[in-house]
Amino acid sequence: MMAASNGTAPELARPAGAIRALVDPFARAITYLRVSVTDRCDFRCVYCMSEHMAFLPKADLLTLEELDRLCSVFISKGVTKLRLTGGEPLVRRGIMTLFASLSRHLQSGALKELTLTTNGSQLSKYASELKNHGVERINVSLDTLDPDKFRAITRWGELDKVLAGIDAAQAAGLKVKINAVALKDVNDDEIAPMIEWAHGRGMDMTVIEVMPLGDIDEARIDQYLPLSLLRARLSDRFTLEDIDYRTGGPARYVRVKETGGRLGFITPMTHNFCESCNRVRLTCTGTLYMCLGQNDAADLRKPLRASESNDVLAAAIEEAIARKPKGHDFIIDRRHKRPALARHMSVTGG
Ligand code: SAM
Repeated sequence: MMAASNGTAPELARPAGAIRALVDPFARAITYLRVSVTDRCDFRCVYCMSEHMAFLPKADLLTLEELDRLCSVFISKGVTKLRLTGGEPLVRRGIMTLFASLSRHLQSGALKELTLTTNGSQLSKYASELKNHGVERINVSLDTLDPDKFRAITRWGELDKVLAGIDAAQAAGLKVKINAVALKDVNDDEIAPMIEWAHGRGMDMTVIEVMPLGDIDEARIDQYLPLSLLRARLSDRFTLEDIDYRTGGPARYVRVKETGGRLGFITPMTHNFCESCNRVRLTCTGTLYMCLGQNDAADLRKPLRASESNDVLAAAIEEAIARKPKGHDFIIDRRHKRPALARHMSVTGG
């Protein structure tokens, strides 16, 4: 079934009267839910986590059945795109059963896209299954193609495993996009060769500015590279042509004339993209963050567990969306030594 041309949910897929679309106070329709299915990860990326993270007790986590129920209520209220993330979504035990059960919403036409963001370490194992459950496109986070640098950035990761995972994903027919966080004096010199590598394999690539989320073991200012600077440097080597391509997210794309591929820029620091925000984020304990860059949140676990009917939950979701803030205000400079927000990206999911 096709979505309405204005980008709103395909209402015909749902029973009449069942839907009250989620629209926030700034008239933005909320059609995109990102779900962090676990706060755990098999990597410890230096800009994301400290080496010794305290993780949530397993008992605090929503079960996979509860996650399915929550996602399904969002879908019944107009969410058409669902991204599972983390932590590392593919390290959550039994995660394929969640993909399998959520795929029924793809079949009904209520959900347009079921996808995930992954570090790629488990893709060799799961790529075919993901494809069988209706996943078409995935994002793989990869900041370098140098094995030693990869180990230094991820602390625990192995580049070979991730590259094998990307091979498996492409062999399974999944469309892969590479996401790289731009890190000053770490991988800035590698972005150009990575673009050539990704585009050479038919993969889009997006570069992301580092965001001040959570205490890590080093200073953000040492990592922060404004993408305006990176773009200027890339322009010395490539012809970057602005294009209209949008994925409904914050990335702004150019076509790289020399490679023919697409390159996205996600610039939460240098250019605020909140005006078109269509998303909210759910943690693995059922906390809903209406903005990645603000602290206000709504507990959905309590209403979820309060009643077997979804009415209480649906009302709690509506109430939360009515509080969605206009945007974030991240700052990284020498006067702001503390993170803008105490929580790590692994909690809300990147
Ligand atoms: N483990 C999965 C992965 O690696 O893609 C999903 C979770 S991870 C938190 C999602 C994305 O957030 C990754 O691309 C990661 O590089 C990015 N990320 C983590 N901390 C960040 C930060 N402080 N600023 C910008 N991006 C960050």
